[in-house]
Amino acid sequence: MNETENYCSICGNGSSPFKSYGGRTGVLCPVCGSLERHRLIWHVVSRECRLSEDVSFLHFAPEQCFYDKLAVSGIKYFPVDINPERFKNACTHMNATDITFPDESMDIVMANHLLEHIPDDIKAMKEFFRVLKNGGIAVLTVPVKLGNEKTYEDFSITDPQEREKAFGQSDHVRWYGRDFTDRLKRAGFYIEEFFAKDCLSDSEIRRQVIDRSPVYICRKRI
Ligand SMILES: [Zn+2]
Repeated sequence: MNETENYCSICGNGSSPFKSYGGRTGVLCPVCGSLERHRLIWHVVSRECRLSEDVSFLHFAPEQCFYDKLAVSGIKYFPVDINPERFKNACTHMNATDITFPDESMDIVMANHLLEHIPDDIKAMKEFFRVLKNGGIAVLTVPVKLGNEKTYEDFSITDPQEREKAFGQSDHVRWYGRDFTDRLKRAGFYIEEFFAKDCLSDSEIRRQVIDRSPVYICRKRI
């Protein structure tokens, strides 16, 4: 097999080369729309999460490539967002800082690139913890600068252009550093960080075009 050919482990595409996206060359799967981070997340979810029909899965800001898999998987699947009208698929209104599901009702909560938008991110983390069953898992990713120990946030910056300069995007309120895990621990979680190299060889990382940022597997154990 030619290792320079792209392969998408989410949809199985191995024939259509990845396209450019956001100024990055060869990162977007043209079949399912996945990007670098999605393909790592799916490797980790496939490895760490049992997806059988008795599993309840709460999915914030549901990415199309994951929705397409999870909605037909037979699990009890709950796609939610604070702006559900953004999505073409069925999606229920839900605020991550005020989740309407009862305590210990979910086996899995997934929220990718969500917490950097939320001023009170600890409250959202505590809500994820609350609705998870004992032994449940939160799958979380955020933009993180691993070279920075401390998270940078400044709530006096409210202008969208200034936020883009400070935090990389006009609707972000912080840049996380390595202390992201400390915030998760404050919410009660036990944390494991998964990097691409934990799942795949260097050649597969290149072929599948996988993100170098980690996926955080956050376990609730009481
Ligand atoms: Zn794909």
